[in-house]
Amino acid sequence: ASLVQVMMHLGEMVTATQSLPDETLQLLGEELKYNVEVVSPEDEDRELLESFSIEFGENEGGEESLRPRPPVVTVMGHVDHGKTRLLDAIRNTNVVSGEAGGITQHIGAYQVATEVDGEERKITFIDTPGHEAFTAMRARGAQATDIAVLVVAADDGVKPQTAEAIDHAKAADVPIVVAVNKIDVEGADPQKVRAQLTEYGLVAEEYGGDVQFVDISAKQGTNIDGLLEAVVLTSDAALDLRANPYQDAQGLAIEAFLDRGRGSTATVLVQRGTLRVGDSIVCGDAYGRVRAMLDENGENVEEAEPSRPVQVLGLTNVPSAGDSFLVVKDDRVARQIAQQREARERFAQQARASRRVTMQNWQDA
Ligand code: GDP
Ligand code: MG
Repeated sequence: ASLVQVMMHLGEMVTATQSLPDETLQLLGEELKYNVEVVSPEDEDRELLESFSIEFGENEGGEESLRPRPPVVTVMGHVDHGKTRLLDAIRNTNVVSGEAGGITQHIGAYQVATEVDGEERKITFIDTPGHEAFTAMRARGAQATDIAVLVVAADDGVKPQTAEAIDHAKAADVPIVVAVNKIDVEGADPQKVRAQLTEYGLVAEEYGGDVQFVDISAKQGTNIDGLLEAVVLTSDAALDLRANPYQDAQGLAIEAFLDRGRGSTATVLVQRGTLRVGDSIVCGDAYGRVRAMLDENGENVEEAEPSRPVQVLGLTNVPSAGDSFLVVKDDRVARQIAQQREARERFAQQARASRRVTMQNWQDA
């Protein structure tokens, strides 16, 4: 009998070319005395890593190994409300190791320092504004962001993409800090923005809510420090950001490309552990030994602790944004994991391409 006939026997009307939900596949397996196991790509990858005794995504070493780590921030908001300008303003005035106004590199993320209550506090900004990158990462099961800065132009108010950004931040359970931008523009009305956003559940502290609103001008550099302080205060109040810096590093690729001179160049965000030059790493289906690491000023870094973004040189090929990376024992293990991932991806692609054929030819097989 053909698969379609078996399905009809089971009371399901199907065509030979449609794909089936997981439960139906399981039912079909039972009928044909096959053991059908539906495995998600995430589970499959977890199993692969477990076969090398690696657990991804967990801090090792328990409570006493955890240390505070800086928040990782994504800037979101409606088009033209000033996201790029704000990221530039923050980068140019506050990068950690560079001189103010020094030449910075775009590496997809950067870290800044600000003083809050006499203490130096760091913040990591993802340098690709907009919620597309944010949702693309989340769709791949990767969450890089701890806090969202929502930019709203005070001369324009809440717009469709403002509302979308709020939805995304809420879905990801990420607290929001509102940057009310363009206060230098004639006719700007920062209070109106506060009033509008109460309808989205974002109530300013001065109105009895728990959301920090900060009036800024990204263009003139007004009150950027106030915004950074609000980010730190929100992080302290709403989040308990800690990670184990003592384990092998794990994290995410933020962006990657092929540099003609330097080869594969990947910006990674360390989420746990400390990444060091010389470490053997796997990132998606790329692998290699960390030959050098560069910070946002193009300067060499020997090690990168949790929440630190660095550009990694030395990978064999170019990973994708949102790929996880991890440090493994040696190059051999790195290569094996990468090759198995690549083989699996190739197999999945073939299966997708040949699904129709498989269904139709089942009876011939
Ligand atoms: P994005 O689309 O959200 O990234 O917006 P941009 O950062 O590209 O800014 C859009 C336009 O608004 C640009 O022309 C900026 O120079 C301008 N702009 C951004 N921030 C301010 C501001 O604080 N004041 C004024 N007057 N213009 C701003
Ligand atoms: Mg922009």
